[in-house]
Amino acid sequence: MVSIHCLNCGRVFDTGAYYNTTNELMPVRCVNCGSLMLIQLKDGYVTSQKPYIPFEIKLQKAKVPPDILSDFEEATTCLGMRCLRASVVMARRALQNACTQIGANPKDELIKQIKWLFDNNKINDRVYNQATTVRQFGNYGAHPQDDGLDKFLDDEAEDIVRICERILRDLFH
Ligand SMILES: [Zn+2]
Repeated sequence: MVSIHCLNCGRVFDTGAYYNTTNELMPVRCVNCGSLMLIQLKDGYVTSQKPYIPFEIKLQKAKVPPDILSDFEEATTCLGMRCLRASVVMARRALQNACTQIGANPKDELIKQIKWLFDNNKINDRVYNQATTVRQFGNYGAHPQDDGLDKFLDDEAEDIVRICERILRDLFH
């Protein structure tokens, strides 16, 4: 059992985890106040601890098709957990699904679908210009090794999720 000092309420609680062989950040929830945080363990000791940063969703949830909303919400959860690649994958999936439901060609790559949205007045030029700066919307192929995420910068994930949300807000309001 590993004791964790809660970053929110300051009380100590025990987690069932002993070791984290992958040495990745993992989520734990304080049993006293319920707040989430991310910890890293080595040999039964906490080596790092960060607060979970919730992403405030500004979509009108009731207007967004449920399958798209659930992918987008997963993207934001992954972002809060610092699972950044997973976050980008889910954000792209939500966006691609939205594009095709609105009428873009499902065989086009995402960046072309976004251009289709702009050409058909579904999104404004400001959002379109922001989207075109996102490499992760364009340069990935059909195979996992072509997903563009190996040379991926950490701070890109949040930009991608935010632009994805802006487009979804324009499409479903
Ligand atoms: Zn707490």
